[in-house]
Amino acid sequence: MINATRFNGKRAALSLTYDDGMDCHLDLVGPSLEDHGFRGTFYTPVNATLMGRMDEWAALSQRGHELGNHTLFHPCRSYGGSTWIQPWRDLKLYDLARWEAEVDLANLILNPLLEHCADLGSDLWVAPVRDVIGSL
Ligand SMILES: [Zn+2]
Repeated sequence: MINATRFNGKRAALSLTYDDGMDCHLDLVGPSLEDHGFRGTFYTPVNATLMGRMDEWAALSQRGHELGNHTLFHPCRSYGGSTWIQPWRDLKLYDLARWEAEVDLANLILNPLLEHCADLGSDLWVAPVRDVIGSL
C-alpha cells in the first residue's frame, strides 16, 4: 500500500542527480531544472569548477538544489586499460583511513557552501563512478 503523504501528497518522487561538478551543471542544468520547477542534486569532487565558482555553487544551493560530496580527488578503480585514471588516484591503492580523510576534507570545503541550507550537511555523498570499496 502506498502512503500518499510520503512525498508531499504525491504518489511518487523522482531524484535527479548529477556527478562530477561540471561547468554545464551551473550554466545549463541548474537553470533548466528551475525553469521547469525542479531541483537537482549535484555531487561534486573538489575540482577546478568547484574552487573557481564557489559563489555560484553556493547560489545554486541557496536556490534549493542539493550539493553532495563526491570525494576530494575522485578516485576510481583502475582496471588496467583506463588511461584517464592517474596512478595515485587508483582506488585499489586506498585504505579506509585515506578514504575517510579524503571524504572528510571534501566536507570541510563543501560545508560552507551549504550553510544556508539547514536541512543539508555532510551526509550527502556518492562514490565516484559508482565504484565500491568493498575490500576495505
Ligand atoms: Zn564522478
